Amino acid sequence: MDVQSITGMLLSELEAVCISMGAPAYRAKQMLSWVYEKGVMSFDQMTNLPKDFRHQLSEKYQVFSARVDAINQTADSTEKFLVHLADENVIECVLLREGKRVTVCVSSQVGCAMACRFCASGLMGLERNLTAGEIVEQVLYVKNHLSSNERLTNVVFMGIGEPLANYDNVMKAARIINAPWGLGIGARHITISTVGIVDGIRKLAQEGLQINLAISLHAPDDAVRTRIIPSNEKTGIHSVIATAREYFETTHRDISFEYTLIDGVNASKQDAESLARLLRGIQCNINLLPLNAVEEFHFKAPSWETIEMFCKTLEKHGLVVTLRKKKGDDINAACGQLRLQRHKFLREKEKLFVK
Ligand code: SAH
Repeated sequence: MDVQSITGMLLSELEAVCISMGAPAYRAKQMLSWVYEKGVMSFDQMTNLPKDFRHQLSEKYQVFSARVDAINQTADSTEKFLVHLADENVIECVLLREGKRVTVCVSSQVGCAMACRFCASGLMGLERNLTAGEIVEQVLYVKNHLSSNERLTNVVFMGIGEPLANYDNVMKAARIINAPWGLGIGARHITISTVGIVDGIRKLAQEGLQINLAISLHAPDDAVRTRIIPSNEKTGIHSVIATAREYFETTHRDISFEYTLIDGVNASKQDAESLARLLRGIQCNINLLPLNAVEEFHFKAPSWETIEMFCKTLEKHGLVVTLRKKKGDDINAACGQLRLQRHKFLREKEKLFVK
């Protein structure tokens, strides 16, 4: 953790490092091209840098700080990566393939403080924020894993954690992911998903970036929302919606609302009608997703008929709806499920040793 990694640095920062070590500033671009274009993970392999300089660098810095532990693949070609951080914490990122669209879903924190009542990420609370480098490395690991005929097209901050609660590191990572000297992914192909932290949304609106914003709404009113999203008690759904409107007025970017359908909680016809009323006049699209059941909670996904009814009701009101298929069900691809599974496995192992 104490050794700084190249993956967390902006070009200007790396140029300053080069100069401070007596090397010309252009060495920074050479290094970044090794990391982001050629997938190199050590200074040793950067053969156009002088040997002495490579040695000097490796004494003070590292290219990567994390390593990938396990890759789980599903029948639908979704792959899940368990990433070991330098401090032995573990996070996860997911690779999703849909035709030409190749998306990596990254984590922004170790654990999560939001404790949403259906999400595995919040079960063990928040451990710490991820650094910008640790976020960028997830994208790099996935990119380097792709076959030569595949190209990474999208990055979504929809893994473990609340991105806007780790605002500065997430924004820095997004800039590196977007930069032509970095991963070169267009801002319109980067999505930040939030539980609805209003100050963070306001700040994001002022960044002047074309990044997409997704808000995890999951409910048509305060009663339902507070039941499944504890942080709503303080924020309130109307403040989230008002901030979404402000965001649109400032950026002119459409907003996505995420809506996880949970049987008997937020999936009735009446809920759909109320949701349509709530979102009236907002330029947005709604991403409906059936719940990916987590063993620790008693919630389950509604029947297919209910899901279709919900979707059609919204469409009848003129809303743009995307019904997302559940992806990677067999590898626990919902937020935090793999990390939780590993935690439980280690706990069981510990018990065996104690006996
Ligand atoms: N903290 C951010 C990112 C979370 S993950 C946010 O709240 O948006 C991305 C999405 O997956 C969120 O909408 C989250 O509510 C949803 N999600 C979490 N657990 C889920 C589960 N078990 N089934 C379906 N969706 C889930």
